[in-house]
Amino acid sequence: MTREPLRPDVANADILLWQTGYRLLLALVAAIIAVGLRSAGILKLSSVAYVTVGPDAVDRVLGVVAVTYVALVLGIRALVQRTRAAGRTLSTLMVVADLVVVFLLVFVLAEPHDYHRGLLLALFSLQLTHVYFGRAPALLMLAAIAAAFLLINDIAQRYSNDVSWPEALITLGLFGLGSLLVLRVQSNLHARLGTLVSIFERAEDGDFANSYDVAADKSPDAITTVGRAYNRMRSQLASIVQTDPLSGCYNRRGFEQQYRRELARAARTQTDVALIAVDLDFFKQVNDTHGHLVGDQVIAETGELLRASARTGDVVARTGGEEFMILAPNTSAAGAQHLALRILEAFRRRTFGEPTARIAVTVSVGVVSDTVPDESIAEALRARADEALYAAKRSGRNRVVLWSHGLDALRLSQSSGAYPPLKR
Ligand code: GH3
Ligand code: MG
Ligand code: MG
Repeated sequence: MTREPLRPDVANADILLWQTGYRLLLALVAAIIAVGLRSAGILKLSSVAYVTVGPDAVDRVLGVVAVTYVALVLGIRALVQRTRAAGRTLSTLMVVADLVVVFLLVFVLAEPHDYHRGLLLALFSLQLTHVYFGRAPALLMLAAIAAAFLLINDIAQRYSNDVSWPEALITLGLFGLGSLLVLRVQSNLHARLGTLVSIFERAEDGDFANSYDVAADKSPDAITTVGRAYNRMRSQLASIVQTDPLSGCYNRRGFEQQYRRELARAARTQTDVALIAVDLDFFKQVNDTHGHLVGDQVIAETGELLRASARTGDVVARTGGEEFMILAPNTSAAGAQHLALRILEAFRRRTFGEPTARIAVTVSVGVVSDTVPDESIAEALRARADEALYAAKRSGRNRVVLWSHGLDALRLSQSSGAYPPLKR
């Protein structure tokens, strides 16, 4: 199954696209209101704009700003639609354009004692930035808002001397404190959403090792609730995805995960790991003689028997049609061989399948045990278990073979032996 990875620039693209829709709508509504109010003579030029820009140029300046803003939004929208990606530069450009428009409008239309309106408008943009792009961009934006606010106050002070710096600074201070408080209470929404997404991505790959750290959320919110819900169903999902329904053992996916985990642990603790490969002998004949349903029953009973024979902590998996693998952590070659012989004996002692005609089934078993220098031994160890199993088949089946360096030679020397060749 191929899955499109959730890249941040793709996620940003989606956000930016729906936001550009809102920006265009807002720009349109603002332009209609502004033109209407200007022509009705209600919207007056601020005294500072009167001095700095002049009454004749102000409509032109507003027009140029409006057209530039809309062109920028449309350009970014087209670019994002084409590339389906939006990096940090595009998001930043968009937010900077918003701030320029907001503070220019405030500068042109409001008197200096009303400049706090710019902060109110910018708060909306700040909130969106925090929710959708994260804490760091939001903090940068907070600094940009403060700079823009100080800039228009400074210009106003130069040209009209009508600015009360203590009031302006108190307003800015309150705005800054309030914003920081909101950012803190929402405690890194964006990063926590990212954590959840990566947990879900790993779950999609069948890896349920990670749970959501509910305790780390000092002020629990909706994301915490989703995390808690995931944690509740995690073990259930894991067992569904990693278990083979017929035999009740781990499936190949589950085995791979346990194998990697146990190898890492063995490498850390410098202990042995044993692999025991089990394959039912002449299973094709069971199917041919008794039918597939009985064959399935034998596989199910084999799973039960192997799990009953293994220790707690051993991993029993059905890795193929009638092939099983037992991973025994912290087990020497002698211990693994002992377990393998016990399994062989268990098969010899009992019968399987139909209640009326119980079927005798034997197994061939390949055993290997080794210390684990690091996880790269995974493939070699598995190949050795298979090699030993192969040797058991070749040398007559219904037996245990412990892997040793001479096995390859054994396999070669017996390739013309009396036993039917193993079809793989
Ligand atoms: P060998 O001793 O060499 O292992 O002989 P074999 O007949 O067991 O080996 P082979 O690999 O030729 O056949 C395996 C058979 O297992 C073939 C296939 O039909 C059967 N099989 C695989 N998966 C299932 C299953 O899920 N259910 C049933 N009933 N049979 C299965
Ligand atoms: Mg077989
Ligand atoms: Mg087989």
